Formats: sequence, structure tokens, C-alpha cells
Amino acid sequence: MRGNPFRFVFLSKYDWIIVGAGFTGAVLAERIASGLDRKVLLVDRRDHLGGNAHDYPGPYGILIHKYGPHIFHTNSAKVWSYLSRFTAWRPYEHRVLGAIDGKLVPIPFNLDSLDALFAPAEAARLTRLLIDTHGIEKSVPILKMREAGGPLGELADFIYAKVFENYTLKQWSLRPEDLDPGVSARVPVRISRDGRYFQDTYQAMPQEGYTALFARMIAHPNITFAASTRYEDVAGQGEKVVFTGPIDEYFAFEFGALPYRSLRFELEQWEVEEAQPVGTVNYPNDHAYTRITEFKHLTGQRAAGTVTVKEYPLAHLPGRTEPYYPVPTPGTAEKLKPYLEAARALEGKVWFAGRLGDYAYYNMDQACARALALFEKQILPNFRDDK
Ligand code: FAD
Ligand code: UDP
Repeated sequence: MRGNPFRFVFLSKYDWIIVGAGFTGAVLAERIASGLDRKVLLVDRRDHLGGNAHDYPGPYGILIHKYGPHIFHTNSAKVWSYLSRFTAWRPYEHRVLGAIDGKLVPIPFNLDSLDALFAPAEAARLTRLLIDTHGIEKSVPILKMREAGGPLGELADFIYAKVFENYTLKQWSLRPEDLDPGVSARVPVRISRDGRYFQDTYQAMPQEGYTALFARMIAHPNITFAASTRYEDVAGQGEKVVFTGPIDEYFAFEFGALPYRSLRFELEQWEVEEAQPVGTVNYPNDHAYTRITEFKHLTGQRAAGTVTVKEYPLAHLPGRTEPYYPVPTPGTAEKLKPYLEAARALEGKVWFAGRLGDYAYYNMDQACARALALFEKQILPNFRDDK
């Protein structure tokens, strides 16, 4: 804590310091600057805006997502209309194929995947069985389907082995059943012919990209953005802090390092118009990488060449790699508990939020929703009259 309060008042130039300029930090900076009319210093230790959603123009002018493919999708009308203040949208429904047994089949695994991998009579029998058991147009998590066993047990084992087991081992170095069931349930088996990766109401890409969206979001006279700036460099320059970096790092790993997974991205450029038929091809069983994404499909750009990215999962080493994914397992709550208690002790001065601050496997829309809720429920009511 601060020692001399007079020294603090003298140095304090900002009302709020926000650490991390990803979705969580940028939304909170915008809300506090315009909704509360307070001065905000937004910092990021990276040399750019946007956190993991940052994009930039690369070869052939194609917009590259620096930290892997980011596809926007949400069921929240509130998040959609909030973000729509800062960007126009390009409608885009993401499609993924999986390389399985020498074929490219829809992922999530659906009735078309079944038709592609089984002889017609067997595919028809399994389709009837799936519909009779679960109903048409239903989505069933693979772990649930396996648990149920019965006449579909063999098919469930097949899908588990061909789609989930090895991909998950590569991505997390864990088996699907050792993670929270919600992780593999993000990509359920679909008893339908809906070949879209997501089924959300709103699916689109920011027309000029994410970085342009962020630039508009923070273009407010109350916001100062400092890139390549760590929290430690500015601590003390503001009275209140929102921290969206890793919560364990904030507390100097006092209660043990929380597990994260990292990634290495390999960009490749090709002198062809199109490298693959859809935005992403997953490789559950071959190669050290999990998937290849071709950005053009996401951005809708046209060019003589194209750019792809391969994602190679890695163990995370604090200080050496980026903590891209919290690792949700049944033991997570227990590991997180002492950090949440330490965070509670700072209530009223420091708030933690975001994928790293909450240590939660948020999508972009969930990070926005969390930031909006934090502002509306905790920040606005407490600081509205405090000027
Ligand atoms: P972040 O974007 O991680 O921002 C936190 C920022 O804090 C970072 O920029 C970091 O540099 C900074 N920081 C940390 N510590 C400090 C410090 N001490 N001082 C200064 N700065 C600090 N979501 C989707 O909805 N759709 C997708 O298709 C999708 N694809 C993804 C693909 C990959 C490979 C990954 C890793 C994530 C994907 N996501 C996707 C999730 C999305 O990236 C997150 O939901 C979102 O970025 C979370 O925003 P955030 O602000 O909480 O965190
Ligand atoms: N998954 C899988 N095979 C696939 C696609 C996904 O096993 O072909 C599992 C894997 O465990 C993965 C999780 O489902 O980590 C969630 O997939 P998603 O595509 O949502 O992951 P993200 O885009 O967040 O990396």
C-alpha cells in the first residue's frame, strides 16, 4: 500500500489506471472515460492496442491476427450493440473442416461428417439412431455421448478418438475428461447438417479489423494510452486500478503459479489465391500443430496471394511465453481461491477482470460482457458522485 498520502496526491495524474489494452481493458477505459467522465491511463506491456485480438496489415495487404484467428460471435444483443458503436461489421459465418482418415469433414462433427466417413447404409443407420436418441437439430457434448454408452457407444468412441482425443492432448497436454467438460462441449456433436462452427445470433467480423475498432473505442480526451508500458512503470499514477493481466502474476505467484497453455504461431504466405476451402482446417491426429487458418476467408479480402497461420500448442513458462489459455480443470477453483481472496482484500482500490484477471476461458464477447457488468454493477454506482 501507499506510504505517504500527500506524496500520492501530488503524483496522481489519473483517476484510473487500466492495465491491459485488450477487450476487457479497452471497454472499461471507454466506459470510465465517457460514462464517468474520469481520466484514465490505459497501459499495455505489448507494443500495440487490442490484446490478443490485435490485427495488422500483412503480406498482400491481408489483415493478420497476430495472436491467432479471432472470429466474433455472440448471443448478447447488449454486447453487439455496444461494439457496433465503434465498428461496422462484415457478416461472416466461420466454417471448419477436420482432416480425418484422409478426408476433410465438417467440425463440429455433424451428419455430413458421418456421411463422409461411413458407407451409405451404415451412415443412414447411425443417423437414424442419433435422431431417435437425441432428436434432430440437437447438440450433444462428446463426453455426454460417451457416458451414455448404449447403441451409440461405438460411434461416440469413434468421434472421441478421431476428433477430440489427440487434438486435446496436443492443445492442453490433457485428455478431454481431465478438463472441465465445458471445454470439449464448446464443439459438440451436432445432430444436424448445420456446418457453421458457431450458432450464435450475431456472427461477423469488424469491417476494418479489430485494431481499428479499439482505436475508435479509446479515442476519447479522457483516455491516455501508453503501449510498451508495464503496470510497475505507472503504479501510483492513479488512484484506482483495473488489472486485466494474469492474477497470479499481480500477486507475485504468492499462492503458486496458475497453469496456462501457450502457443507458437507460424505465418506462411502463398502465391495462390486460396490455400484451403474454408477459414480453418483442424488436424486432430496429424502434425504438431492443431489447426491452419487462412485469414482471407475471415476478412473477405481479395488478393493474388494468401496468408495462413499454424498454431503449435506449447507449455507456458512465466516470463518466457504468453499465457494464452487458462487451463480449466476440476481443480481450478481450488487453485484460484487464495488469489480471489487476496483480490477481495483490495476491493475498492483494485479490480481484476478478463481472461487472465478472472482466469476464465472467455471468448471476446464474454470479456466485453464481463467488463460492461463490472462497470455497471460495481464501478458506476460507487464512483458516480465521487469527483
Ligand atoms: P487480453 O486480450 O489477453 O489482454 C490482456 C492484456 O494485458 C495483454 O495485451 C497483456 O499484454 C496485458 N498485460 C498483462 N499484464 C500486464 C502488465 N503487468 N502490464 C501491462 N500490461 C499487461 N475469442 C473469440 O471470441 N473468438 C475467437 O475466434 C477467439 N480466438 C482465439 C484464438 C486464440 C489463439 C486465443 C489465444 C484466444 C482467442 N479468443 C477468441 C479469445 C480472446 O482472445 C479473448 O477473449 C480476449 O482477447 C480477452 O480479452 P482480455 O482483454 O481479457 O485479455
Ligand atoms: N476440440 C477438439 N477437436 C477439434 C476441435 C476442438 O478436440 O477438432 C476440443 C479441444 O479440446 C479444444 C476445445 O475442443 O481445445 C475447444 O475448441 P475451440 O475451437 O473452441 O478452441 P479455441 O478456439 O478456444 O482454441
